[in-house]
Amino acid sequence: MNQGDSQDTKGQSGLTATALFGLCPRCATKGAWAGPGALAARCGACGLELERYEPRGRAMYLVVLPVTILLVLAALKLDELVQLPVWALIALWGVIVPLVVTVALRFAKAAALIARLEKEGLI
Ligand SMILES: [Zn+2]
Repeated sequence: MNQGDSQDTKGQSGLTATALFGLCPRCATKGAWAGPGALAARCGACGLELERYEPRGRAMYLVVLPVTILLVLAALKLDELVQLPVWALIALWGVIVPLVVTVALRFAKAAALIARLEKEGLI
């Protein structure tokens, strides 16, 4: 493995790469996520223990709550602008809500993961 290449993916692009594409913050190999919002136990390539640095519990409410409030406000605003039929609303929000919450959770978890790894000098 070329360590020089992984150095280039660090920093701000590293957060997006980890959050959206599931790249390991240390070796940039795919597979950092085990589920939509759950980190894998460890990186399959470099063995970095991702799960150990995963933020858990109530801290995540600080991310989910504001996102939920924004989604509710967006839904109310949309309803004010266009009166969509109920089936369209169910289809629309049924896709948007899990997607937005998952992406927000992933960004928050990836940011916390990278910060913790950097603090311990692992990346
Ligand atoms: Zn790795």
